[in-house]
Amino acid sequence: MQCPYCGGDSSVTETRVTADGLRRRRVCTVCKRRFTTYEKLGAPGLKVQKRDESVEPFDAEKLFRSLQRVAAHRSIGDDDLRRVARDIEATLVDSGRKSVAWSDIVELALDRLRNIDPIAADRLAANYTDESGAVRFDHSAPATETKQLGLPLTDDES
Ligand SMILES: [Zn+2]
Repeated sequence: MQCPYCGGDSSVTETRVTADGLRRRRVCTVCKRRFTTYEKLGAPGLKVQKRDESVEPFDAEKLFRSLQRVAAHRSIGDDDLRRVARDIEATLVDSGRKSVAWSDIVELALDRLRNIDPIAADRLAANYTDESGAVRFDHSAPATETKQLGLPLTDDES
């Protein structure tokens, strides 16, 4: 990143993840002036592997919506969920990986959600893990996840 004052090279002194992306504090290596840049993350080229072996571009918005589903009716704000999604994206970008399994993303989300809202984390785990505790690769949560009351479903109801 070029220094806006003298055009010299800059180095990053601090990176913060915000709800919108990354905020980096930089210092010019030539004139020593400080400035701040804001970056929207795009996770360029990062791919997600699904269970059926298909691959799709990483989409933080999709991850955010998955988190919204498991956090429904909980007290976590959208800003917090967006920050979790961005933080995961930043972690994946920083790791330098070109592809990631959906299950790895779920694990990262579980780590973060447990600190914010253990109940939402449990829901996420229930949606994405099987009886053995292994993460399923399905990308979508069951549509009826929160409405079930444990009543037996019968076929002769209609
Ligand atoms: Zn400069």
